[in-house]
Amino acid sequence: MSRFIQVGGVKIGGGAPVSVQSMCDTDTRDSAATLAQIGRLADAGCQIVRVAVPDKAAIAPLAEITASSPLPVVADIHFDYRLALDAVAAGVSKVRINPGNIGAPERVRAVAQACQAARVPIRIGVNSGSVSKTLLAKHGAPTAAALVESATTQMAMLHEFGFEDICISLKSSSVTRTIEAYRLMRQVSDVPLHLGVTEAGTLYHGIIKSAVCMGALLADGIGDTLRVSLTEDVCEEVRAARAILQALGLRRGVEVVACPTCGRTRIDLRALAYDVERRLDGYDRPMKVAVMGCAVNGPGEAADADFGIAGGDGEGLLFARGQIVKKVAQEQLVDELMALIDAT
Ligand code: SF4
Repeated sequence: MSRFIQVGGVKIGGGAPVSVQSMCDTDTRDSAATLAQIGRLADAGCQIVRVAVPDKAAIAPLAEITASSPLPVVADIHFDYRLALDAVAAGVSKVRINPGNIGAPERVRAVAQACQAARVPIRIGVNSGSVSKTLLAKHGAPTAAALVESATTQMAMLHEFGFEDICISLKSSSVTRTIEAYRLMRQVSDVPLHLGVTEAGTLYHGIIKSAVCMGALLADGIGDTLRVSLTEDVCEEVRAARAILQALGLRRGVEVVACPTCGRTRIDLRALAYDVERRLDGYDRPMKVAVMGCAVNGPGEAADADFGIAGGDGEGLLFARGQIVKKVAQEQLVDELMALIDAT
């Protein structure tokens, strides 16, 4: 089991549930827009939010954001260590730095001391684009071993300054390299691990890359928190992250199972399945809802779920907790299903 760190009210590692993170794409200097987006992320189920701190002008708005945010706020800092010091003073709950681009050891020490005093953990965010020239020369490319050596070197520097409240990410845009890096890291350290695939891409491909990568790692018990990076609305990152955790049984929520349809289907099952999914969006009580096309597997699968539909010819049977409730015409099926769910 990994060690744990505390980020605001959220525990990362140490056997805590895997937490979901995202990152605002608003201009941090616009505190109203950033807080509005954080509110949407919180409603979607995000637990920790990161914001970019590109320059000094972002610090005063950052203080307003941390004061009003419903989620712990992580400051994303590159290059200028003074921004990390200011962000800690502005009340952030974690700092993400890459010590490799923060500069001389005394600057890293200053950041470690400020974080220590404020009990703010540091994420060492290594990615394939930030591996040092020395390590690139040694490994020949930003290999998994190079990513891990980059992280362990930077972690050792923080340890030297007496700082232990660390988590690590090792992101590459290559799924296989990312998996290899996290597996290697887990072998050499019990530091909490933040999972992610960098520059994963647009909705469809980004979710597939992230699900394959994080799925492989989480199934092996590797990973304490995660962010699905998508070139999309930030709430899609949270939905995808939750779905990945749910698919692995690491989180309970609404699970809609639907058959793929076949030549036996005599009902517009695709429309029904999408409609059920859409109308259950926002429900966060754990339940399994089956939307099945016919009498072959339909009733069995539907009966196994908390609620279900087994399609017939232009009509369907409604099930609740293994029992047939009634037969309903296709047009009323989803309304009746929702009424049944809401009444339970
Ligand atoms: Fe076909 Fe029925 Fe299976 Fe759906 S449940 S795929 S309709 S056999």
